[in-house]
Amino acid sequence: MDDGCLVESVLIPHKTKTNLCISTQVGCKMRCAFCESGKKFVRNLTSDEILRQIDRPYGPGTAGGIDSVVFMGMGEPLDNPNVIDAIERVKKEKDIPSRKIVVSTAGMCDKIKLLLPTKVNIAISLNATTDDQRNLIMPINKRFPLAELKKAMHDVNDMLPSKRRLQIEYVMIKGFNDAVQDAERIAALVPKKSLINLIPVNSNDERFHPPNLETVASFKEALRKHGFICYVREPRGRDVKAACGMLAGKMTTPK
Ligand code: SF4
Repeated sequence: MDDGCLVESVLIPHKTKTNLCISTQVGCKMRCAFCESGKKFVRNLTSDEILRQIDRPYGPGTAGGIDSVVFMGMGEPLDNPNVIDAIERVKKEKDIPSRKIVVSTAGMCDKIKLLLPTKVNIAISLNATTDDQRNLIMPINKRFPLAELKKAMHDVNDMLPSKRRLQIEYVMIKGFNDAVQDAERIAALVPKKSLINLIPVNSNDERFHPPNLETVASFKEALRKHGFICYVREPRGRDVKAACGMLAGKMTTPK
């Protein structure tokens, strides 16, 4: 940024499409325990700064190389009042339709409905299934406990167009939130037609390790039995500290 602040955006190439994950803040105030971005907060990005990240990979005016944009980088999008304007500008100026945009929140229950008029996909970062457990890794849970988050998820879900699904993000931490009982509690918390993304944790922190493949498979199967569409997020970018939860806003020298 012009004032020397650093944020990271992540270009994620797939076989037939390219996704871009962008940041909304320099750091983050939410302090989720497994996330590098939450270790400091400097400031909100302006909508210009949010949009500029879309120009970076291929140059200004070439957002055509990007198929979808996810607001899942550094920062809590709903904690930045510039984000709604940025979403509208991504749609208009970068010609990326709302169905190709995902905005993720750690669960700012009082603000989730602000996303509805933008018609983007909404993702809720759940990551735990009891208040005791969620309080340990997501301080926002003390402000908006699970009962409140459950109500907000169901209210928003009821207002989504019929073809849209609420997305639930669930970071899996070995021995902490990866038991089949957690999967059963997720099923009781989230709306029935939700799409659930399981994300084996990526962390530099020695306390957090991803579960093994069998545990993840059993968890996914337990959710599928409840009728949920469920995906396991492929861990990509760990080698360059660019995977989910690893964005710290540091410069690295390419090898
Ligand atoms: S996971 Fe998201 S909300 Fe939590 S600290 Fe990281 S960037 Fe902020």
